[in-house]
Amino acid sequence: MKRSPIEDCIFCKIIAKKMPAKIVYEDNRILAFDDIRPQAPTHTLIIPKDHFASLNDIPEDKADILVDILMKARRIAADKGIGQSGYRIVLNTARDSGQDVFHIHFHLLGGRRMAWPPG
Ligand code: 5GP
Ligand code: ZN
Repeated sequence: MKRSPIEDCIFCKIIAKKMPAKIVYEDNRILAFDDIRPQAPTHTLIIPKDHFASLNDIPEDKADILVDILMKARRIAADKGIGQSGYRIVLNTARDSGQDVFHIHFHLLGGRRMAWPPG
């Protein structure tokens, strides 16, 4: 029998409150929570509540969630006081990017000077 995403996916477990996380924003479609291994003073993950493995798996007719997440990232950055100092939003997709968790997530990073190019 095919397992539902929630059984295999740590981010679905966080959405279902079956795993703890420091939640910074939630509505009916989006959840944002602090990364467990922060790479900057602010490191928040923003995800859709619907399970999509990566950007490659978002259907065209669901693409509006991407804009919603970006606009929410802007608001969270402002709320965390890094809206003006600056922040970086990262979306790792598939193997070469280093994507590790296969429930699409945007990283919101800030509070320190970022380097370019990324590693
Ligand atoms: P990726 O490399 O897939 O873009 O990033 C996955 C991110 O999820 C990493 O930054 C990692 O620290 C974070 N992460 C993995 N497991 C958990 C968890 O159980 N809770 C939280 N809050 N973050 C996690
Ligand atoms: Zn999931």
